[in-house]
Amino acid sequence: MAARIVIGLLLSFAGLVVVARRAWFLFRLVANGKPDPGRMTDIGAQVKAELMDVFAQRKLLRRSIPGVAHFLTFWGFIVLILTIIEAYGDLFSKTFAIPLIGHGRALGFLEDFFATAVLVALATFTAIRIRQNPARRERRSRFYGSHTGAAWFTLFMIFLVVATLLLYRGAQVDTGDFPYGKSWWPFASRLLGGAFSTLSHSTNMGIETAFILAQLAVIWSFFVFVLHSKHLHIFVSEPNVLFSRRPKALGSLGSTPDLDPEHMTEDTVFGTGQIGHLTWKQRLDLISCTECGRCQDQCPAWATDKPLSPKLLIMDLREHLFASSSELLSGSEIPAGGVAAKPLVPDVIEPDVLWSCTTCGACVEQCPVDIEHVDTIVDMRRYEVLVEARFPTEAALMLRNIENQGDPWGLGQSHRLDWTVGLGFEVPVVTSTIPDGAEYLFWVGCAGALDERARRTTQTIARLLHQAGVVFAVLGPKESCTGDPARRLGNEYLYQTQAQTNVETLKAAKVTKVVASCPHCFNSITREYPALGGDFEVVHHTQLLEKLLAEGKLQPETPVSAKVTYHDPCYLGRHNEVYDEPRGVLAQVPGVQVTEMHRHRRTAFCCGAGGARMWMEEKIGTRINVNRTDEALATGADVISTACPYCMIMLDDATKSRQAEGSAPESVRVLDVAQVLEQSLVAPPAAGPGSADDSFD
Ligand code: SF4
Ligand code: SF4
Repeated sequence: MAARIVIGLLLSFAGLVVVARRAWFLFRLVANGKPDPGRMTDIGAQVKAELMDVFAQRKLLRRSIPGVAHFLTFWGFIVLILTIIEAYGDLFSKTFAIPLIGHGRALGFLEDFFATAVLVALATFTAIRIRQNPARRERRSRFYGSHTGAAWFTLFMIFLVVATLLLYRGAQVDTGDFPYGKSWWPFASRLLGGAFSTLSHSTNMGIETAFILAQLAVIWSFFVFVLHSKHLHIFVSEPNVLFSRRPKALGSLGSTPDLDPEHMTEDTVFGTGQIGHLTWKQRLDLISCTECGRCQDQCPAWATDKPLSPKLLIMDLREHLFASSSELLSGSEIPAGGVAAKPLVPDVIEPDVLWSCTTCGACVEQCPVDIEHVDTIVDMRRYEVLVEARFPTEAALMLRNIENQGDPWGLGQSHRLDWTVGLGFEVPVVTSTIPDGAEYLFWVGCAGALDERARRTTQTIARLLHQAGVVFAVLGPKESCTGDPARRLGNEYLYQTQAQTNVETLKAAKVTKVVASCPHCFNSITREYPALGGDFEVVHHTQLLEKLLAEGKLQPETPVSAKVTYHDPCYLGRHNEVYDEPRGVLAQVPGVQVTEMHRHRRTAFCCGAGGARMWMEEKIGTRINVNRTDEALATGADVISTACPYCMIMLDDATKSRQAEGSAPESVRVLDVAQVLEQSLVAPPAAGPGSADDSFD
């Protein structure tokens, strides 16, 4: 007895020393990051996310088989903490029981149930890994690039934790030390006890002692291994989820830097150029990655053979963080030639990786530990644009156009009202303040006002609002780009200049309610302008149309015989959770048969235009818009519908190119949800701008 106490305590002490040293190092490495204020401002939402994403494993359970296996392992570990306490108690006393908990039959059952469940989960993980092993080196595998050796070792260690537990408990059944008496509720231990019953008492005593000590040794070895491997997430994902932005790190970007020159010091850095520029939360993100590849699996850039994988980006930054740790924690200036002084781009992250991102948010949406990839990517872009002036040359023209002409195409404010010509009714234009009686300011957007295809949608929306008796006005030449493409490209200066001007214009016009047709404008005004003092009630046109239908102000009557598939724009769906309203509008069009693509709602595939990619050449891999359009065409739809002018342009281009190749029916059309609705409100299709080309009957 004394020997087992001494051995148990010695190995625990050794394990504790190593674990404590490593935990302190990790804590300092994270805490040494830049400040990130405002991480605990919505405690209710944060606690709810912790309960849902950590304890209920909400995101993991979206994939049912690995999700259930992970759920059982997670809860198995929580319940089995009790058995570790009991193992320590057993070192000292054969009659040890956890205070207040004791040795009820239910506890015995719970412990054995979860021990068995963890073994089943391990068998499942093993089967998944063996099945996927041949494909693991393929780009399409979500485990491509992950550290698989460590994952196998972890499975083996978890197996040892449970195996040693059941073995010593089985032996206890025969030595008389089993704390649950003759009850069969701890069924697994009882079964093993039956198997050991032919052994002598002293042999069972030896097995009991050996496996109690083995369990303690395995547990401490496991702790040490976990803290030195990617399985660190077992301990750090909980705080990472707790401190993540709520409701999620999409919509607005994570930070709106103060660009006032009077508030700048010599330490002010724009964006993230070196590893030391990361905030503590971004560092916590890096060490929380489980390498599960769920983000990579959904990334449109990766799926179309570009070099960007959100998982590999996080892993590369993490590796560099650890390589730089001694310099970061030295307390001295980073030496000029030091590891931590390396420019993240291009030394750690290739430029083509950085510029491939469409900011679609699929990675953030999928990540089970709530890593905020988009914020980190845009922070690195900010540094490249604002400090290094390095970015794709094609994007320079877009930035210049916004700066000089107020729109990315450089057509100028004088064309902002061209779409109103021939509408058949007058659209009030704000001169000083919004006209009396105008309920909404219709924010048309640059594409909606200036792109020929998007203009047709704008005209349709205007006609529908007019028909429903909604009084609205537009800013016309006073409207300027919201700044979204500049911001997602990394030009925060230009974004804030645009945004501040627009906020002032809207305020001066005494606007309170805005309807926007472009999800990027909708997102900027709703989610990002409040940080610059612009608080307006904003709806997307699909939301307003659904409301007007519900109120009976629009009454679809003419059947529209068409099979329609709906493409979720990333900035309407994932970034703002508007999934139901566009579908609600389509559902009310008589005759329309809606068919969903495989990737829809939160897993919808990007069109390729976001993140300012619309203005960059797509030189690597295959085209994102063609990938998405092929999926839409595969549904056999007559109409690919959407609710975003960018998506409209991208999908229309891809459809036309497939039609030119002869691989898509000539009859297929790309239309906004509003245009589909309009077909059912007018019979025959209305003459006038925007209607004739959109007829698909
Ligand atoms: S935002 Fe979209 S494109 Fe960018 S890394 Fe994430 S999934 Fe890939
Ligand atoms: S970033 Fe998130 S989703 Fe991607 S591999 Fe890491 S844990 Fe998985």
